[in-house]
Amino acid sequence: MSRRAYLLFLFALSAVSRTQAETPLTLIDAHSHHEQEYQVQFDCTDVIAALDTATVDRVLITSRANQSSQSCFKQYPGRIIPFYSVYSGALDKQTWMHQPAKVCEARDALSSGEFVGIGELHIFAEDVNSEVLAGLVALAGLHDLPLLIHGDAAVIEKVFELNPKARVLWAHLGTVPEIDLLQRMLDQHPGGLYIDTSVRDTLLLGNPVLNGPQRNRLTPEWRAFLIRNQDRLLAAIDTYSLNRWRNYAAVADQVRLWLSQLPPEVAQKLAYMNSQRFVRAF
Ligand SMILES: [Zn+2]
Repeated sequence: MSRRAYLLFLFALSAVSRTQAETPLTLIDAHSHHEQEYQVQFDCTDVIAALDTATVDRVLITSRANQSSQSCFKQYPGRIIPFYSVYSGALDKQTWMHQPAKVCEARDALSSGEFVGIGELHIFAEDVNSEVLAGLVALAGLHDLPLLIHGDAAVIEKVFELNPKARVLWAHLGTVPEIDLLQRMLDQHPGGLYIDTSVRDTLLLGNPVLNGPQRNRLTPEWRAFLIRNQDRLLAAIDTYSLNRWRNYAAVADQVRLWLSQLPPEVAQKLAYMNSQRFVRAF
């Protein structure tokens, strides 16, 4: 190769890596909410604008009474992944597991085929024998839908006891993010258990008050866990409030900050490939 050809080659190479560096890794947000109560201030068009600004291709949305998720899905079907919420009001988050009518409502709603999953269900060990939980797990099995669960390990165990073929997305790095516990659970349920990373970015990135080069560094323990379980983990943001929607791009950047410290093929799996696989209908 002549010197000139070599220089041209180097120039081309640097252009490629520059382009890669400038294009943010596309994400699918595997856990978010959008509520009717702030539709006036932040409607479905604003949701899509937030996704575009944050380079998020699609978002899993669940909304109380299913109003926002359904209206946004109808307007932007390619961008919204609608999960069925059993909650009609804010109080249901604490009491749904004691309301048998929730199973009948879910049966009717799911027969429409308008939902691709059920949740988010907040439930912990003390309510593990809820008939309502059992009813929803049965419905999920009937329609081959995944469940998004915010709960402890006892609840996850119960779901797989009720249906060994269940598909579960365990929220917030297992809600209690302990590596040994998560690894044991993933190993015990190799077929159907997946975990989302929402609201755990500062944990993954180590001590946020630290200064210097260690700041914002993916901790070695979590890095090893993410690589080991690279087919089972889904990046997620969780817009639990209107304010969180307003910070959406900043949170997406924080997600990309720890993703960028993984091997690129692992980062792609967590960023969007695992979500594509998890929600089969999309
Ligand atoms: Zn949530």
